[in-house]
Amino acid sequence: MNRAAFLRRLPAVLAAPALLAACRTEDPSASPSGMGRGAAGAMAIPPPDPTIAPLAKPKSEWARLLERARFDVLFNHATEPPRSSPLNDEKRTGTFVCAACHLPLFRSAAKFDSGTGWPSFFDPIHGHIGTTEDTSLPYEVRTEYHCVRCTGHQGHVFPDGPPPTGLRYCNNGLALLFFAEGQALPALRT
Ligand SMILES: [Zn+2]
Repeated sequence: MNRAAFLRRLPAVLAAPALLAACRTEDPSASPSGMGRGAAGAMAIPPPDPTIAPLAKPKSEWARLLERARFDVLFNHATEPPRSSPLNDEKRTGTFVCAACHLPLFRSAAKFDSGTGWPSFFDPIHGHIGTTEDTSLPYEVRTEYHCVRCTGHQGHVFPDGPPPTGLRYCNNGLALLFFAEGQALPALRT
């Protein structure tokens, strides 16, 4: 998005309460009555890879391993404040991995500037996310997505993203770690 378009969106983003506005833009197609209302099936989300073994680690163990803010997002479904993540401005080539179990979830080539204040992607690494229907908001059913290995909550996906998928994976930066090209990816947590 160019700067002018971003600034046009800014007042709407700033005026809205962070929690209710989570990952929303003023784009009419993103309205609660818009297409894809809670319908993960209407969006071409790649299915989970059945060969990835789930990591059954108790929540208490994640609480011990992760700093509190990351734990709250990943395992209590908290939403970080918009524009709070340094990953918003991360433009290097590299890989975004789950901040809990380290499974790679997104590549930088699929990142775009949505103007929402959250790191946004148009495609995950196929098979590495799962989805659920999120009915926590009174006016809208949303599609939640999470790391398929550890079930750590990442964000919500909306049908108003750019080509080629038309999807917008709106991610909490706290739920991801970034590794630039050339850096070794961390070992998967077990
Ligand atoms: Zn994970």
